[in-house]
Amino acid sequence: MATDRIALVTGANQGVGKQVVKELVANGVTVFLGSRDLARGQAAASEIGDGAIAIQIDVTDGDSIAAAAARIDEQFGRLDLLVNNAGISSAGGPDRTPEESVGSAKLSTASLDEIRAVWEVNVFGVVAVYQAMLPLLKKGVDARIVNVSSGVGSLASNADPSFAFRSFYGPVYPASKAAENAMVLAMMIELESTDIKVNLVSPGYTSTALNNFAGTESIEEGSREVVRVALLGPDGPTGTFTRWENSTIPW
Ligand code: NAP
Repeated sequence: MATDRIALVTGANQGVGKQVVKELVANGVTVFLGSRDLARGQAAASEIGDGAIAIQIDVTDGDSIAAAAARIDEQFGRLDLLVNNAGISSAGGPDRTPEESVGSAKLSTASLDEIRAVWEVNVFGVVAVYQAMLPLLKKGVDARIVNVSSGVGSLASNADPSFAFRSFYGPVYPASKAAENAMVLAMMIELESTDIKVNLVSPGYTSTALNNFAGTESIEEGSREVVRVALLGPDGPTGTFTRWENSTIPW
């Protein structure tokens, strides 16, 4: 793979996104490090060093997304890799337990405001960024879109009574990831007649702010499938949904 690739990773000021930027840069990719708070993005980019360029992008804000696309267009005129990584697990405060944040919201009692807030980032944010960046990806070289979802959004897995995380399935985060997967399937079908490749990946259960650092894997371990797929060359597959290492997740 040529090392002059141009990438954008959303939600990259911390967690999995920041690790992905770090490893892409180490592999010679020039990466726009997306952050809804520019100062936090700049801090992360300067920590990573040359090759990481902070860019303000809030995936729920159309003006912010359009400005980011305009800047990438102005600076490089194309995008070769988009990693849709930004995500939230709840609209609650940091004092909530992971169980409260991720799993315990029952359909009968979940706050519709919270469902909407989480879906706004995890589902509609992915669609909005896709729509804005597609013209740049069409001008890209061996372009690829990597969508960071989760195995907890697998409808097929959750329909199986023996699935280990089934009790965590609920309308806020897990169903948002199922809906993200549904949008990514539409992305795959729309682009299957083009040269743009699309993949869906799940990090491991990683210790990040998303789960109040309850995840069992390190940032490096949890991020490795995202990095592996993001670095696939032009002959690499499209239309996959995988976790480390290249293990298929049912939709
Ligand atoms: P994280 O450390 O909380 O990172 C999430 C990132 O998304 C942060 O940079 C956050 O920015 C950003 N973000 C939130 N709302 C945004 C918005 N409106 N616009 C732009 N950026 C926004 O969590 P993470 O674990 O690294 O999550 C990354 C991805 O991995 C998510 O899609 C998540 O669903 C997925 N995932 C994580 C796990 C896990 O175990 N950690 C497992 C499966 C899937 P702020 O810092 O400003 O909040």
